[in-house]
Amino acid sequence: MTRDRFFVGGAWVDPASSEVIEVINPATEEVLGTVPAGTSSDVDAAVAAARDAFDGWATTPMAERGAVLDRLHTALAARADDIARTVGLELGTPLKIAQAVQAGLPLAVLRGYADLAAGPVTEPAIGNSLVVREPVGVVGAITPWNYPLHQVVAKVAAALAAGCTVVLKPSELTPLVAYLLADAAVEAGVPDGVLNLVTGTGPVVGAAIAGHPGVDMVSFTGSTATGRAIAHAAADRIAKVALELGGKSANVILEGADVAKAVKTGVGNAFLNSGQTCTAWTRMLVHRSAYDDAVALAGQVAGAFTVGDPFDPATRLGPLVSAAQRDRVLGFIERADAKLVSPSVPVPDKGYFVAPAVFADVDPDSELAQEEIFGPVLSIIPFDDDDHAVRIANNSRYGLAGGVWGEPDRAMAVARRMRTGAVDVNGGRFNPLAPFGGYKQSGVGRELGSFGLEEFQQVKAIQR
Ligand code: NAD
Repeated sequence: MTRDRFFVGGAWVDPASSEVIEVINPATEEVLGTVPAGTSSDVDAAVAAARDAFDGWATTPMAERGAVLDRLHTALAARADDIARTVGLELGTPLKIAQAVQAGLPLAVLRGYADLAAGPVTEPAIGNSLVVREPVGVVGAITPWNYPLHQVVAKVAAALAAGCTVVLKPSELTPLVAYLLADAAVEAGVPDGVLNLVTGTGPVVGAAIAGHPGVDMVSFTGSTATGRAIAHAAADRIAKVALELGGKSANVILEGADVAKAVKTGVGNAFLNSGQTCTAWTRMLVHRSAYDDAVALAGQVAGAFTVGDPFDPATRLGPLVSAAQRDRVLGFIERADAKLVSPSVPVPDKGYFVAPAVFADVDPDSELAQEEIFGPVLSIIPFDDDDHAVRIANNSRYGLAGGVWGEPDRAMAVARRMRTGAVDVNGGRFNPLAPFGGYKQSGVGRELGSFGLEEFQQVKAIQR
């Protein structure tokens, strides 16, 4: 699965250096292939191509940009099986989930932006002023490994719809699926230089993009620590940043809730993608009246997860992405000062697998309840009343997602008090057109739908 070029200015170009990065299959620990390790001169070339393309793309009518995105969607949809298989290989997502989420979600997001761009453009008048929206400019997009195509498409589709051009750097752990987007861009006839792809490490290629004077905006998804470094680099030239960072979301099960449904859905949510999901409900808060039942059921549900080969249809939990991630997660489990209530689940000897772990009686101030673990680890915490639940839910430096279960009006009232960017009430479904993003240290800015589009636009007032 080796790729040996970058996609710059509409052509496949040789990298400046012959160094490569090995991509490892986390289920087998074998090398899947390599991609080039980019340098700052590769970034310079990609930014120059994006700058050259900007004026033409920015002045292309939005509906025409929508037509390009529509063709890009067609070309990407034709690769859906390849996308799911590639993510199954480089990340270890079980195939069925890879098909539905890792391939299905970015296709839905791209479809949404093609439709949005095709729709009417509104330019409101305020007194004698006409307010127009214009693209921010050249966007540097830096993405992580856990939803490696979705996180790319959430940025690229919105930026392209807005009229921005993009230099993309996917995660060095899962770079292969991003190449499928570049292949689709070639097939769809995306104009030269509108989308550019450079692979490499964060400290080299990522830092070069974040600090580049030719990059007008950096759109980043990843850890809070890296987001902070990127915001610092962008601040030096007052470049705009959008940051989608970590989370430690609470799933609040109120008195009188359907406990069985809330617990089963909650455990599934926490363990999706082996817990490597920024929106995962990693803290389950349960009213004392249902606490013992919830703890017993959560342990039982976790014990029924089959861990193993992502390509075996029986598998529900694949490996973690890397040995480093596995060791980090095992460290949290070993240090945990709480009651382990899930039975031991067998895991393969080879591969970066971690068995699911559910802890009860977790101290809300402990490491387990405060740190983003990014593995299949769930913390259960009891509460006494709704106020207490809200206090615990908000006792986090993050605020990305959350859930509430209970009588609808009461659950809505709790949802409104949670300091977080999204809340699902009684299992409300994920909506790829709704704004997505964080409060507090979970980030700044929003992705997806019209809010995500606006992130890549600036407004101009024209007085008449
Ligand atoms: P990471 O921050 O290590 O890496 C993310 C990206 O940043 C990668 O492409 C990496 O190469 C690059 N990078 C690393 N150091 C850099 C630097 N100094 N300058 C510029 N770029 C640099 O994060 P990760 O380990 O890939 O992803 C896991 C983290 O991402 C978790 O904390 C998770 O919560 C978070 N995340 C957040 C969201 C969200 O939407 N809020 C989504 C997914 C993941």
